[in-house]
Amino acid sequence: MAASKPPQLPPLADIPFETLYNLLQPITLPASSPRATFTNWGLSYTCRPLAVFEPETEQQCELILELARREGRHVRAAGIGHSPSDLACTSEFMLRTERLDNILEVNSEKNYVLAQAGITLNALHAALADHNLAMLNVGSISDQTLAGVVTTATHGTGMNFKVISTHVLSLVLLLANGKRVRCSREELPDLFYASLCGLGSTGLILQIQLEVGPAFRLKEIQETHPFNHVIDNLDTIARASEHVRLWWFPQSDVVRVCSADRTFLQTDRPANTWLWHSLVGYHLIQFLFFLGRYFTFLNGWTCRLSTWLDKETSVVVDESWRVFNLDCKYPQFTTEWAIPYDNTTSCLRDLRNWLDQEQSDPHGLRPHFPLEIRFSDGDDIWLSPSGGQRTCWIGIIQYKPYGLNVPYRKLFQRFEDILSKHGGRPHWAKAHRLRPEDLRKLYPRFDDFIAVLEDVDPKGIFRNEYVQRHLFGKTEAEFNERVFKRLK
Ligand SMILES: Cc1cc2nc3c(=O)[nH]c(=O)nc-3n(C[C@H](O)[C@H](O)[C@H](O)COP(=O)(O)OP(=O)(O)OC[C@H]3O[C@@H](n4cnc5c(N)ncnc54)[C@H](O)[C@@H]3O)c2cc1C
Repeated sequence: MAASKPPQLPPLADIPFETLYNLLQPITLPASSPRATFTNWGLSYTCRPLAVFEPETEQQCELILELARREGRHVRAAGIGHSPSDLACTSEFMLRTERLDNILEVNSEKNYVLAQAGITLNALHAALADHNLAMLNVGSISDQTLAGVVTTATHGTGMNFKVISTHVLSLVLLLANGKRVRCSREELPDLFYASLCGLGSTGLILQIQLEVGPAFRLKEIQETHPFNHVIDNLDTIARASEHVRLWWFPQSDVVRVCSADRTFLQTDRPANTWLWHSLVGYHLIQFLFFLGRYFTFLNGWTCRLSTWLDKETSVVVDESWRVFNLDCKYPQFTTEWAIPYDNTTSCLRDLRNWLDQEQSDPHGLRPHFPLEIRFSDGDDIWLSPSGGQRTCWIGIIQYKPYGLNVPYRKLFQRFEDILSKHGGRPHWAKAHRLRPEDLRKLYPRFDDFIAVLEDVDPKGIFRNEYVQRHLFGKTEAEFNERVFKRLK
């Protein structure tokens, strides 16, 4: 299904201001609209941009950019706000992309799909399934937009699977100068490699051509093992299946090992009962986390209860994306770092020593759980955290029961210090403390990336506060890391 044909307009520069305003009026959200304020899914960052546009056509995107250029405004594209940071926030123009969601072409012979950038992965799975195709790998959820996934190097798990951005074959971008360009590994390769994990700052991504494959089913086995068993056999466990992820429950000293492989089995075997998933899993644990805000010692008991409830081995067989995805439950603070795979065991031992110390200290931190451990193969994307090396991703979480704040900063700081010591690079979508001088040491192509931005967007139209702070080292108050912090 193709997007409807846009009206004929004179060249952008010839459109009078008033006509431009009139053309944009139907897609400009009134200040009274709840969508005029943008809050991320985790309820940790919020912004109220000067203007929020909801374009339905690519031509309308060109008009928004034209207005921004004339008024000297910055433009930030937002997906559906699943980044657990202020990566998508802006105080100026926001372009909400969810209506740019058409599938433009599905090619079952050459195994690719061409879609508009605002399509969600859920919609993409459904469209691909009609052609007996599927994405090659998927992360924990499919709510995100395809552009959101690509521009942050979102990953799933699997020693031999690279981050999802590596499946992109070509991109159509709207650049800061108003030009539409197509880039790929052969055409404008520097722009392409910068945009694959470009944090929305190389231009507005309009279309994405993505490599896909024949639809497949997965059989996932989940088993609980003592931490020491997992750490002593980590390499064997991580290589034993195509997609391995580990959930570590430190206060119970166990790890839930989830191992998924392709299967021709047809029977769906649901992993858990309704009672556990909706009543116990969701409401009881959330209530205990709520109590844990006041009586932190409870968090350890909640962890032990949770592992006890989920201790049986379970097997699930289903369509690939349904097995990859899971219920990420409540709003949350989270951070995740990528370390060289070879450092995994030593890093996990250091994390365990630290968490044991916290546990034995009566005034120590009492974190939520689990820590998530995943794997990906190395890639060649300039700013990809798994660039150039097979990678282990380790994430930590503090839930916000009923949306209420919980302490997390000291916990994450100590976590990050340990991950840094092991060569860690933060997930770009998640809040972190690194600045250009740190990033330059971690990413050999960092300066090449900045050079591409200076070339395609010299005035920084697509740079928001996050990008100015982390990539350009701006220190003024307006770029402060708490400028969009949601305080309640
Ligand atoms: C519950 C949950 C589970 C998650 N699971 C995983 C996981 O398994 N693996 C993983 O790696 N990450 C994971 N993430 C992180 C998530 O994949 C990224 O934050 C992703 O960017 C979110 O996409 P979004 O559509 O919400 O984009 P947003 O958060 O709205 O925006 C993210 C970035 O995309 C840019 N952007 C959006 N659209 C465009 C466009 N058209 N052109 C240019 N730039 C654009 C924005 O400017 C911004 O820089 C998870 C997040 C949550 C909340």
